[in-house]
Amino acid sequence: MIRLIRGFRDILPEHTGLWALVEGVARELLENFGFSEIRLPVLEHTELFARGIGADTDIVEKEMYTFTDRNGDLLTLRPEATAGVVRSYVEHGFCASAPVQKLYTMGPMFRRERPQRGRYRQFYQINAEVLGVQSPLADAQLLVLVHEFFSRLGVTDAAVHVNSLGCPNCRNPYKEELKSYLAAKSGRLCQNCLRRKETNPLRVLDCKSEQCAEAVAGAPSMTDWLCDACRDHFAAVLSAAESQGVALVLDPRLVRGLDYYTRTTFEVRTSALGAQNAVAGGGRYDGLVQLLGGPPRPGIGFAVGVDRLVEILAAQKGYPQKCPDVYFACLGDAAKKAGFSLAAGLARAGVAAEMDFDGAGLKGQMKRAGKSGARFVVILGEDELAGQKAQVRNLKTKEQTEQPMEGLVESLARRVKEEKDNG
Ligand code: ATP
Ligand code: MG
Repeated sequence: MIRLIRGFRDILPEHTGLWALVEGVARELLENFGFSEIRLPVLEHTELFARGIGADTDIVEKEMYTFTDRNGDLLTLRPEATAGVVRSYVEHGFCASAPVQKLYTMGPMFRRERPQRGRYRQFYQINAEVLGVQSPLADAQLLVLVHEFFSRLGVTDAAVHVNSLGCPNCRNPYKEELKSYLAAKSGRLCQNCLRRKETNPLRVLDCKSEQCAEAVAGAPSMTDWLCDACRDHFAAVLSAAESQGVALVLDPRLVRGLDYYTRTTFEVRTSALGAQNAVAGGGRYDGLVQLLGGPPRPGIGFAVGVDRLVEILAAQKGYPQKCPDVYFACLGDAAKKAGFSLAAGLARAGVAAEMDFDGAGLKGQMKRAGKSGARFVVILGEDELAGQKAQVRNLKTKEQTEQPMEGLVESLARRVKEEKDNG
């Protein structure tokens, strides 16, 4: 038997309903907030991610699936979506023709991390990006959107953490201050952070190791170092988001390590996930369009981790079961043919209908009908066929009636609709 690759998984039919529900809610909400879908390839030139994510990151240093194509091109399976969205924005000339773009995309990402619960090598994200808008209202709109998304799905313990990383003008002096603070804590940092405290000191602030978390507990906060423009921007983001009822957790330890990340940064965390507690992350990247060869254009976006979100929802209320509306239990070949045609008619009318192709006895078929969760079962046997009628049983109320075959599709469709309307 050939098996799955480690860190990759199949999303099986009993689970895909919840995935589709999450994606459906996201799609509707994003469209309501004025976003348009963009679909991008999963394979890009390695250079895009090396530049767009930054050489000095775990992703680029050790997690990318990279290979040389037959013609010698160096290609990588996308580890995230933003770089591709920005590439497309620049490549299609939106920077000049229509610089304000609100885009979303959904799909698989690939990172060769250590697989564990909530961490896979192929995982799925829902991404939203706003390009070409400097206003703090864009940041606030994303926070409102994210908050509404989680509350629509009924995730009760999602906390939106937010911070500002300032701009290069105020962040550089802050970095120097942070470096000298970290220099004094050298003895208490992990190996990784001993290196990063020089190259990328902000990264140390969100190191997951306990000793580093303790060491940075008293570190200076970026928000105390913001220049006037960045402070005003941050205040405007917070007040606009809070005016819409979004509860925010100010978190001075929340960072993204790269220079093109600016100002607002945020992460949604839940307690339901154990160590992998981040279910969405985002922020402003005002330097990225230029870094990828475009003119200076601001940007901000976020990514929701769908695998983790589905896990939370499944733990809260299980996976929704998919049930047919009508199940056909047919005895004998002639009845099977009649059932086949009725089931097809119902499916065409938008009613989920199922039949047992091979089932022989009535008892077995009724059992399967019950197990399927169907609301109605239609029983067709020789007697019924002879009299051009069918037995229709409501499996919830156990009430059974005889109905003429003529007009059965319409009458069943009507009854299914009534049952649904009455819950
Ligand atoms: P983490 O800190 O958990 O590694 P991250 O900062 O690498 O997350 P982002 O790059 O911001 O994550 O991606 C956004 C979201 O995608 C995360 O909040 C998470 O829900 C999800 N995610 C990231 N990596 C994985 C993975 N390997 N498997 C499943 N989901 C992931
Ligand atoms: Mg990660």
